[in-house]
Amino acid sequence: MSVISTNLHNIQQNIGKAALQAGRSPQDVTLVAVTKTVPVELIEEALQCGIQHIGENRVQEAQRKYPVIGDRVCWHLIGHLQTNKVKTALSLFQLIHSVDRLGLAEEISRQAVQKELIARILVQVNVAGEDTKYGLDPAETIDFVSHIARLPGLKIEGLMTIAPFVDDPEEVRPVFRTLRQQAATIRELKIPGVSMDSLSMGMTGDYTVAIEEGSTLVRVGTGIFGSRSYTEEGIK
Ligand SMILES: *Cc1c(COP(=O)(O)O)cnc(C)c1O
Repeated sequence: MSVISTNLHNIQQNIGKAALQAGRSPQDVTLVAVTKTVPVELIEEALQCGIQHIGENRVQEAQRKYPVIGDRVCWHLIGHLQTNKVKTALSLFQLIHSVDRLGLAEEISRQAVQKELIARILVQVNVAGEDTKYGLDPAETIDFVSHIARLPGLKIEGLMTIAPFVDDPEEVRPVFRTLRQQAATIRELKIPGVSMDSLSMGMTGDYTVAIEEGSTLVRVGTGIFGSRSYTEEGIK
C-alpha cells in the first residue's frame, strides 16, 4: 500500500473511533483532504483511495488544479479570501469556510445573485483571539450572522475555526467546545437562511478532539500527504 492510502486508512479509523466515543455516527464527519501545495498526481492518488472532498486555501492554486481534478470531488475553500477573487472562487468551490468580514459576505452575495446561485458559506471565528489568525471575534459572531443572513444568495451553513497550534490537542478542546456552543446558540434563533449544522474544525494535530466536540468537517493535510515545504496559512 502507498503512504497516502495507509495514512487515509488510519485517519478514517481514528475518525470512526472518535465519533463513536462521542456517541456520534462516523458518517456525520466529512474528511476534507487539504491539498494545498500537493501536486495533482498525489491528489489523484487520494481520490483513488476514496477521497471526495478537497480543501484549498488559494483561489489561484485551485484554478490551476481544477482542469485536472474537475468535478469528481467537492471543492472547499478554507483560506483567506480576497474580495476581488470572489467571482472566481464561486465558480470553483462548493463551500467557502472562511467568511470573516461584512465586505466579503456582501461581495459573495452580490456575485451569487449575478450568477443566479446560492453560495454555501461558513463563518470563520477566531475563538482563541490570536492576532495571527483571521476570523471574527466570538463576541461579534451572532450579530454578524444575523446581519449577513439578510443578504440574498447566501446559505449560512455553520462555523469554522482554526485552533492554536499546541503539542497536546487536549489544550484546544475548549476552543472547539466554544465554537459548537456558538453554533447551537445561533441555531436556536432560527434565522431564515441559517442552518448551523456544519462545524469545520480539526486539523492533523487535533481532529479527534474536534470530532469529540462535534466537528462535522475535519480539514487534514499533513496527516495524509506529509509535511508541506512552506509556511502555514489561515494565518495572516
Ligand atoms: C493547511 C490547513 C489545514 C491542514 O493543516 P494540517 O495541519 O496539515 O492538517 C487545515 N485548515 C486550514 C485552514 C489550513 O490552512
